[in-house]
Amino acid sequence: GAGVLALGIGLAGCAGDRTGAGSGDSQEAGGTIGVAMPTQQSERWIADGNNVKSQLEGLGYQVDLQYANDDIPTQVSQIENMITTGAKALIVASIDGTTLTDVLQQAKDANIPVIAYDRLINGTENVDYYTTFDNYKVGVQQATSLLTGLGVLDASGKETGAAGPFNVELFAGSPDDNNATFFWNGAMDTLKPYMDKGVLKVPSGQTEFGQAAILRWLPETAQKRMENILTVIGGTKLDGVLSPYDGLSIGIISALTSGGYAANALPVITGQDAEAGSIKSIIAGEQYSTIFKDTRELAKQAVTMVDDIRKGEKPEVNDEKTYDNGKKVVPSYLLNSTIVTKDNYKEVLIDSGYYTEADLK
Ligand code: BGC
Repeated sequence: GAGVLALGIGLAGCAGDRTGAGSGDSQEAGGTIGVAMPTQQSERWIADGNNVKSQLEGLGYQVDLQYANDDIPTQVSQIENMITTGAKALIVASIDGTTLTDVLQQAKDANIPVIAYDRLINGTENVDYYTTFDNYKVGVQQATSLLTGLGVLDASGKETGAAGPFNVELFAGSPDDNNATFFWNGAMDTLKPYMDKGVLKVPSGQTEFGQAAILRWLPETAQKRMENILTVIGGTKLDGVLSPYDGLSIGIISALTSGGYAANALPVITGQDAEAGSIKSIIAGEQYSTIFKDTRELAKQAVTMVDDIRKGEKPEVNDEKTYDNGKKVVPSYLLNSTIVTKDNYKEVLIDSGYYTEADLK
C-alpha cells in the first residue's frame, strides 16, 4: 500500500543497472538483490517474499527470490548461486541459523552485504544487520493471551484471582531457529509464576524446551506430540495449550479433536503469524489467539536497510545489545507485534488492509 508507494519514489531514476553482475561497485544503486526464504509451506513466508520483492522492485532493483523448501543444502546452494551471479546484497531468512557460515564467507569475500531477515544468523561475523520483531515480547504476548483466555488475567492484563488449577501443555518452535528460544523464554517467564503457585499445571510434566520443541516447526510433528501427551495423561482434561505458531496449532487441534474434544470445547490455544486459515479458526471459536506480525513492515525495514547500504548510508537500528550471534552483536531493528483474538481481528487485520473480509470467509 502506501509504504510501497512512498519507497518507490526515491530511486526511480536509478533503475538502469539491471545486469546484476560485474561492476563490483557497492556504492552504485540498483542491481540484483538476492532474497533467500525458508519455505512456501507457511503463508507468512510467501507474504514476506512477495512484500520484499515488490518493495525492492519499486526502488528499481531486480530481485532473485528463492524458497528452499526447508532444506538446508538447498538454501546454501541458492545463496551460493546468488553470490556467483553477482547479487549486490543478500536478504536471508535462514532455515537453520548456524549453517550459513561458509556461504556467508563467500559473500564477504565478494563484498556483498548481508541482512538477516526475521531469524538471526548465528556463528558468523558476516552478517551486517538484522531486522525482526521483538521476539521475547512475542513469547510474552503468547503466554499473556493464554492467561487471558483461561481467565487468569482480565482484558486489561490484571489478575482476576482465578485459582485454577488449569491444566496446560506447552509447545516450542524449532530448536535450530534462534527465535524459538526467545519465544519460549518470553512465554515461560510469564507462565512460571503461575506454575509455581499451582494456578497452572502441566499434566505431562514436560516443561523443558527440549521436550516441547518441534523441529522445523512441522504441524504433523506437533500433532504427534499432542497425541502422545493425550495418551500419557489419560482422561485429564486440558484447559490450555501454549503453541508458538499457527501451523503447530492446526496440528494440535487435529490431535485434540481426534482425541475426543468437541470443536466448540477445545482448550485455549495460542499461535503466531495470523495466517488466514488460523484467523478463520479463531472466528469459528477453535483457536483462541494468534500474534500478528506485519510482514509489510518487516519487508520495509529490510528493503530500507539494503537501499541505505547501497547508497552508502548507515541503516537505522534500534537495538544493539540483544542479538549476539556468538561472533558479534548484530545491529538490529525490532518491530512490535500484536495479540489477535476474535475480539480485535477486524480492527487489526482488516482495517489495516492486511486481509480483506473475503480472505477470511
Ligand atoms: C518466525 C515465526 C514463525 C516461525 C515458523 C519463526 O522464525 O519468527 O513468525 O511462526 O518461524 O515459520
